[in-house]
Amino acid sequence: MSQVKSLYMEQTDTVRHKAVIMRTGMGEVNKKKYRWMQLNETIFHPKGGGQPSDEGTIAGIQVAYVHKIIQDKNRLDHYEILHCFEENQAFPFQEGDQVALCIDGEKRKLHSKLHTAGHLVAEAVKKNYPDLEGYQGNHYPNESFVRFKMLAPSVAYSKEEIKKKVEAEILLWIQEDLPVHVQMSPSGLRLVKMTQDWTPCGGTHLNSLRDLGPVEITDVTFNQKEGTATVKYRMT
Ligand SMILES: [Zn+2]
Repeated sequence: MSQVKSLYMEQTDTVRHKAVIMRTGMGEVNKKKYRWMQLNETIFHPKGGGQPSDEGTIAGIQVAYVHKIIQDKNRLDHYEILHCFEENQAFPFQEGDQVALCIDGEKRKLHSKLHTAGHLVAEAVKKNYPDLEGYQGNHYPNESFVRFKMLAPSVAYSKEEIKKKVEAEILLWIQEDLPVHVQMSPSGLRLVKMTQDWTPCGGTHLNSLRDLGPVEITDVTFNQKEGTATVKYRMT
């Protein structure tokens, strides 16, 4: 099991919390050298699943990056989270210290919106085009997209039709204010459901779609060689 309790997984909007430092260290994390700490509990969402890491401070000191280490690929609940600080940053921390965590609530909300919209784009495409199967997403601001495998490569899709159908479908779901359901599977997998299907996901989401606002499909591109379709989107 994970040592750290991840409060962001509980669909809360908590932006301040107190936690205890379990371990500190220094070394290369995702190709860069950082000082880092592990906590008993955290509100910081780590980078992953196409979503950036939360920004914020610990004891008033800027956190540069938040990294998730999966310890067992068959058990996604077996992980640790490294809260990373720039190497030359003051690091007056010791194991056992209690520290105040603070995340940037506006950025979290933006990331949650973009990530939630990504689920809806994937589901709206799948509902209207069963031969397009979502397998990858990127929910960074200004470069958000969902990528699909074309299971029937000979089908000629219309960009305009995809845009029109997907935008209309999502708007309906938002107007219905569908709730976002989250539950843990017996194997420790966190599952999320918005419209029809439970999807494994460790990201942050809005609690209701009413807070989302319209989603615009900005482009649809096809890579015939790779057999993929990429649907780009943004919040309007
Ligand atoms: Zn998600």
